[in-house]
Amino acid sequence: MIDDQIPPTATAFSGGLSEILCDDTLVELPCDQCGALGEVARGAVKAFGVNGLCPDCDAKDLEERRIKSLREWWRLHCPYEYHDTSTEHKEWNAEAWQALKQRAPDLSENVMLVGSTGSCKSRAMVLRMKLALNKGKSIGWIWSDELDAAIDTRKTSALLDSVAEISVLGVDNIFSASGSYENYQKFLTNLVDRRLRRKQTTIITTRLKGRDVTEVSQSWNNTTRADNERIQSLLRRFRGSFVTVDFDNPNQGGGSGW
Ligand SMILES: [Zn+2]
Repeated sequence: MIDDQIPPTATAFSGGLSEILCDDTLVELPCDQCGALGEVARGAVKAFGVNGLCPDCDAKDLEERRIKSLREWWRLHCPYEYHDTSTEHKEWNAEAWQALKQRAPDLSENVMLVGSTGSCKSRAMVLRMKLALNKGKSIGWIWSDELDAAIDTRKTSALLDSVAEISVLGVDNIFSASGSYENYQKFLTNLVDRRLRRKQTTIITTRLKGRDVTEVSQSWNNTTRADNERIQSLLRRFRGSFVTVDFDNPNQGGGSGW
């Protein structure tokens, strides 16, 4: 009875195609792309009506498709103002980029990019992440408006969870909003602890020097000794696990107080 329910053409077609594909006798035919003679399975040629590509053209084709899909990802996910990561960009900070490459040549290194507005630290962060993406890493960002909003609406744990699986994470412009330093400190401590434990990479940019963070934390209302201890312990994590480059003074190693 079951046989009656199967359309006869379906049975005939799938049987026929798999029979053709099973013919793996090798025949010498020119590559569809470059014309070089190579061996292909006769069954595949019959089934698809093409000879296929030689190993060289096949590898080139795969690479082209990979680049195309990365470009598409970039177009969809990277904010428009950072699409252009060319080192010829008019705002590019070549000296700082050089210092960053020298001090943290391994893309899996945690880095802290410090500098005033316009010192091009965010663009450098984005380029570093593009290089990681090209090496097959998953990447993602937390932009400062997103972080400020999460802090204001007490949704930082949802934000932490949303980036948990990302292997290279960029966190742009930390401590950007005034008045919420304590919440920043709590969020960053959680984030950095989680990521260090999982051996994930974090790239942070900030306008503040490390010593400014200490100063500001001391001016919090009702600052307790415990608050101070917490901010100092966050700074210690950064000092121990992050390579710092000061985009305003790139050749002055680690002089930003982070
Ligand atoms: Zn070829």
